[in-house]
Amino acid sequence: MKGQPTVAILGGGQLARMMCAAATPLGVRTRVYQAAETGPCAFARDVVTGAWDDADALRAFLAPADVVTLDYEAVDLTTVRSVLPSGVEIRPGPQTMEWVADKVLQRQRATEAGLPVGPTVACRTLDELRAAGERLGYPMMLKRPRNSYDGYGNRTVKTADDLAEAHTMLGGEAVLAEGWVPFELELAAMVARRPGGETAVYPVVATYQKDHKCDAVEVPAAVPDEVAARARDLAVRAAEAYGCVGVVGVEMFLLPDGEVWLNEIAPRPHNTGHYTLDACATSQFENHLRAVLDLPLGDTSMLAPAAAMVNVIGTRTGAAENRGLDRALAVSGAAIHLYGKHDVRPGRKMGHVTALGPDVATARARATKAAKELQP
Ligand code: ATP
Ligand code: MG
Repeated sequence: MKGQPTVAILGGGQLARMMCAAATPLGVRTRVYQAAETGPCAFARDVVTGAWDDADALRAFLAPADVVTLDYEAVDLTTVRSVLPSGVEIRPGPQTMEWVADKVLQRQRATEAGLPVGPTVACRTLDELRAAGERLGYPMMLKRPRNSYDGYGNRTVKTADDLAEAHTMLGGEAVLAEGWVPFELELAAMVARRPGGETAVYPVVATYQKDHKCDAVEVPAAVPDEVAARARDLAVRAAEAYGCVGVVGVEMFLLPDGEVWLNEIAPRPHNTGHYTLDACATSQFENHLRAVLDLPLGDTSMLAPAAAMVNVIGTRTGAAENRGLDRALAVSGAAIHLYGKHDVRPGRKMGHVTALGPDVATARARATKAAKELQP
């Protein structure tokens, strides 16, 4: 491989932003293609804004690339594939993306691979949903199979009477019905995987969601070593089962009886791995670049006994102002990461704060204190 390889990133959100930042010290060049100028990659030099079906723009964008990777899964890759220079791969590859882009296919693959998951029924019609409700019981979770993220696309239904409305809200077509998982804790682990299968796994974290969306992460998760070991093992098996290349976030449920179930995977750097930027020897973004470039993976171990990450979430609509940075920076030991988004919306992820500490509670308190000061 040449000394300064080029990674072309599809999508210009915060993940692309943090990949670009991680590329700089490695002398790796990045290029970003985005559908709209939303802000996070405005700092970068080689950024192209264009449509996902603009063959000429994509051809020019991809010409210098050694490898192509993704900032989000929902990119329509049809035109990208048709103009991809020969010998250049998209990582993660097409089979992984096909399995993951659809929650029904994703779940089928997990079952085929023998990974532990909760009960689900793939439905299309209201009658099928009613039958699923009889089988799975209530409350039941309905998930739109495609283009769902951050809980957009999920509905909890409490009784059969709520099914019709929820089905309409989710588009009135395919829906994955999931039995309610009475989890004790949600866990996650990031796995980095090279094309040949070499794998590095990060510590198991506890994740806390608000409105179905990641709000905070604590690491290490407060679970017995044996549970953490099983969760790590499940994360690695999931990365293998989906043939992931690059970094993959594996979301899991810890059940009251100590069993660990797979919830879902995201084959890219993930919100529950943002803490690695400040808390681990090699960040998930650097390991993602290393993995997609088929370079040796970096050390995933922690630099402190504990860490916590708290998201900075928008609470209003308008132009982002990023107030409170001075007060947040005054919180000792808090690492501030703002995503540079032009606009804020309620629920939108605008940044995150990570803090290290001697224990999880101290780290969480520090991160929360700084995050509260930030008013995007
Ligand atoms: P994200 O993009 O944030 O990962 P998503 O839209 O892909 O979210 P899921 O991860 O499937 O959606 O669900 C979001 C959250 O909703 C989970 O982290 C969990 O808190 C809750 N949840 C999902 N499925 C179930 C279930 N079957 N039972 C109970 N809670 C669930
Ligand atoms: Mg999720």
